[in-house]
Amino acid sequence: MISAAKISERVRQLGEEITRDYAGRPLVLVCVLKGSFIFASDLARAIDLPLRIDFLGVRSYGVGTDTSGVVQITQDLSSPIANEDVLIVEDIVDTGLTIAHLIDLFRTRQPSSVKICSLLHKPARARVEVPIDYLGFRIEDKFVVGYGLDIAEKYRNLPFIGVVENT
Ligand code: 5GP
Repeated sequence: MISAAKISERVRQLGEEITRDYAGRPLVLVCVLKGSFIFASDLARAIDLPLRIDFLGVRSYGVGTDTSGVVQITQDLSSPIANEDVLIVEDIVDTGLTIAHLIDLFRTRQPSSVKICSLLHKPARARVEVPIDYLGFRIEDKFVVGYGLDIAEKYRNLPFIGVVENT
């Protein structure tokens, strides 16, 4: 669906936009595991700001390729985020339930700001409205893998985004 070259060009543009918007201020990049590990590592290198990187492990329960909306934190951040600018890096916003939950959770920790950067968004499946401040690509309603995204833990290492058929 999206080639490695297209992804790399878009990540470079997002990095420039983020660098410009934060204008030299320090930023905490929160990589939501596992799906965004590749996106976050490429994005981090495209951002020219004093960066701190942290990781949040999340599991959203579902049946097959469907989300239930129940989000479990499997690994918390390693440091507090109070009074810091935070950018949550997600692989994909589908129903929006995961990111809505994370925004609520983060707000209780009183950061200066919380913004969202997602590589992909499937608008057709939205169940809650979430603000995506930086978006890589809007895609149609297909189950995708690669560039960090999996199906049953496979295909995360594909350098491109591909569509899984017959799920
Ligand atoms: P939500 O429905 O809560 O917005 O998305 C939750 C999570 O479901 C995403 O972070 C991602 O891990 C997973 N997900 C949603 N759509 C896809 C998809 O097309 N492919 C893969 N591999 N995971 C997806």
